[in-house]
Amino acid sequence: MDCIFCQIIDKEVPSDILYEDDKVIVIKDIHPKAPVHLLIIPKKHIVSVAHLGESDKTLIGDLVLTAKKIAETQGLKGYNLVFNVGRDGGQMVDHLHLHLLSGKPKDLP
Ligand code: AMP
Ligand code: ZN
Repeated sequence: MDCIFCQIIDKEVPSDILYEDDKVIVIKDIHPKAPVHLLIIPKKHIVSVAHLGESDKTLIGDLVLTAKKIAETQGLKGYNLVFNVGRDGGQMVDHLHLHLLSGKPKDLP
């Protein structure tokens, strides 16, 4: 499939992986828009939030809880979680992903 995130999940394209389990992968954004910019990506190929079904409830919970876990691990004081949905919503990669954006890691000047 011609999907960059599926290729990253399948390790056909290299990426900076911070976390991975059977459902989710977390990578560093290649063009960070904040000092910390991570992408929490489900391994299942779903195009966007607009394509979610009732059966994806658990998966969305997994994404948010993974974001929380990574934020704690990274010592982030505060952060933003963003889903861009559709071209008009700024979505460029048609594989669901949750942006985790943050300023400075805790305890750094
Ligand atoms: P969106 O605009 O919400 O679809 O976000 C897609 C994000 O994926 C952008 O912030 C890109 O910088 C990022 N991105 C695209 N290709 C890669 C890649 N190969 N590795 C890491 N991040 C990527
Ligand atoms: Zn995909």
